[in-house]
Amino acid sequence: MRASTDARLPIRDKLPTEMQRDAVGRFAPTTSGPAHPGTLLAALLCWLDARSRGGRILLRLEDLDPVRCRPEHLAAMVESLAWLGLDFDAVVRQSDHRDAHEAVLDRLAEQDLLYSCSCSRTDLRNHGERARDGSFRYPGTCRANRLPRRDAGGWRAVRESLRVRLAPGAFELRDESGLELGGDPLADAGDPIVRRRDGAIAYHLASIVDDHDAGVTRVVRGRDLAPSTAVQVALQRMLGWPTPDYRHHLLLLEPRGGKLAKLHGSVGFDALRGFYTTAQLGGVLACVAGLRSDLAPVSPSALLSEFSWDRVGNADRVLHWDGSRLIDR
Ligand code: GLU
Repeated sequence: MRASTDARLPIRDKLPTEMQRDAVGRFAPTTSGPAHPGTLLAALLCWLDARSRGGRILLRLEDLDPVRCRPEHLAAMVESLAWLGLDFDAVVRQSDHRDAHEAVLDRLAEQDLLYSCSCSRTDLRNHGERARDGSFRYPGTCRANRLPRRDAGGWRAVRESLRVRLAPGAFELRDESGLELGGDPLADAGDPIVRRRDGAIAYHLASIVDDHDAGVTRVVRGRDLAPSTAVQVALQRMLGWPTPDYRHHLLLLEPRGGKLAKLHGSVGFDALRGFYTTAQLGGVLACVAGLRSDLAPVSPSALLSEFSWDRVGNADRVLHWDGSRLIDR
């Protein structure tokens, strides 16, 4: 899917090179729906991390999934973050980076590291091994497949999904908060899909290519994405790229059906904007993050001078939307 150009969506394609010498962060929401409290907290923490260092921050709209992503969510995401008072040095749309993603697939194919895979989800489920992130491990069934020769179209001629042959071996990796991220991605989850059967470039590949091309030095994101880091670092290493600094932060959860779910879906941006001013919602987010001890209204820029990760809480927070307010449980 390519989003149509929208005058309200100021897309600038590259961070100027002089930005790449300093800390460069990125906020990379999937544009599969409106911003929710969890999205806004993640954006705020990402923004505070970069800006409090005097660094730059890029907004990357991750719109590669043709099933889940809709063009209207791109502009809505930009608008929501601006409403919260967050500014970005560049706004990019991931689907515009297709050529860069394909160039990396070419590189991996030249090194004979790509193969086609016809296994379905059901095949993986039937195999029955779980990876650390709860998904089913890929057992390597199609690993011996060869791609068509380059003059026969190479990987572009393949209609099945494409996986990368990872090298075996464990490595150590901790994020800045001390979270253990290392391990052996091949043993844990198996070779990752890098291009899906429907032609979409898969998240792990698109994410590391875009981070690298933009000179991203700091990846700040929710703890639910921590299990993705080892495979992303393994891919960076295969390509000879540096590893950014990682930090994974608390999540906002909600009680739902006796379980705790990520605070997504229950209350969207339009409802939040209907009941809160920018500064009021800033106060709620600052309080749940641990940056403030009360709900007094505050703007993101007013939090900058006092921002430190030492002050951000570690534990996930449970919030409940009562129809007009977010209630801290
Ligand atoms: N697009 C992913 C998400 O919204 C996050 C990607 C990342 O931060 O690496 O969950």
